[in-house]
Amino acid sequence: MIDAAEAIHSLLSASQRVLLISHVAPDGDAIGSMLGLKWLLEAQGRAVVAANQDGVPYLLRSDQVAPGWQSVVHAPVKPRRPGRGYDLVITLDCSDMQRLGKTYSPSLAHAPLVNIDHHITNLGFGAFNLVDPAASSTAEIVVRLAEALAWPIGPEAAQCLLTGIVTDTQSFRVGNVTPALLGMAQRLMESGASLQAVNEGVLDRRNVDTICLWGQALNALHLEERIIWTAIPLAMRGRCQGVEQSDSGLANFMAGAEEADVAVILTEREDGLVDVGMRAAAGFDVAQVALALGGGGHPRAAGCSLRLPLEQAVQHVLGALKGALAEQRRANAAVEGQR
Ligand code: AMP
Ligand code: MN
Ligand code: MN
Repeated sequence: MIDAAEAIHSLLSASQRVLLISHVAPDGDAIGSMLGLKWLLEAQGRAVVAANQDGVPYLLRSDQVAPGWQSVVHAPVKPRRPGRGYDLVITLDCSDMQRLGKTYSPSLAHAPLVNIDHHITNLGFGAFNLVDPAASSTAEIVVRLAEALAWPIGPEAAQCLLTGIVTDTQSFRVGNVTPALLGMAQRLMESGASLQAVNEGVLDRRNVDTICLWGQALNALHLEERIIWTAIPLAMRGRCQGVEQSDSGLANFMAGAEEADVAVILTEREDGLVDVGMRAAAGFDVAQVALALGGGGHPRAAGCSLRLPLEQAVQHVLGALKGALAEQRRANAAVEGQR
């Protein structure tokens, strides 16, 4: 980590104008890690622009959980005037370059690209890659970087970074929560961040349209070979206009089903793509299936987007999952047999 931090430090010391980009349909870690790093770099005297194709989702448009959210640019980013371009581009929470969406353009290619991420499926697309699949969140990696470089973490940066950690760990409930992470969260709270603001303002909060969509999606549940799944056609979403793309609460809720090893939600989008969100129970892995389908993620939470009609997307994903799960069950049984 020190080596990586030192390499990034020398890139940063040679840079004045830094562009930060996080993934399309951003979640709390995408926005939190990006804004946290923006506050930290600005405190070091750098000029920083934070960009996201889809802007900031409504739950994060709050000074309590994502201070500085108003500064996120969501038009495609063009280099500034000739000779005044960015001299460093940093991507956050993105496992491949498609996740940058329209925010990244080839005209930015003159600047070195640093890829900071924690997805096991990260393709290592940066000139420099700070990728740790054991990290709970990209925000955790940003905090480690700041602490390794002895950068002070002010209250705004602390809040954004805690928001990233708490949203990606569902408030410290998942497997990659370590004693070191809890210590880090304590230091962020001591720097002025509120844990309650993230729990109440992001994780436990949703609008009525979202609750209404959950109701319809849950009414259309299927359970097949220990896969619990539901599909959300455009018409279903049309009755609940205020629903945003990046709500992962329903997938997390369905993943609690005792009778299932995997939960899947397929959501039809207006642009002809189908978003697929997957969750796996302990002992199962959906990251490699997602990667094979052109997406990515973590062993127990992954996703992809398919350009297929919804019905075909359902068949395609279920087919891939059934094959992968059969293999994983065989492997798990073999390990059990050896005990
Ligand atoms: P979600 O179900 O949207 O909460 O996503 C679960 C995990 O899968 C997150 O870590 C996402 O970053 C990742 N993921 C979701 N969709 C995609 C995609 N189209 N490409 C790559 N990774 C994705
Ligand atoms: Mn994310
Ligand atoms: Mn993340």
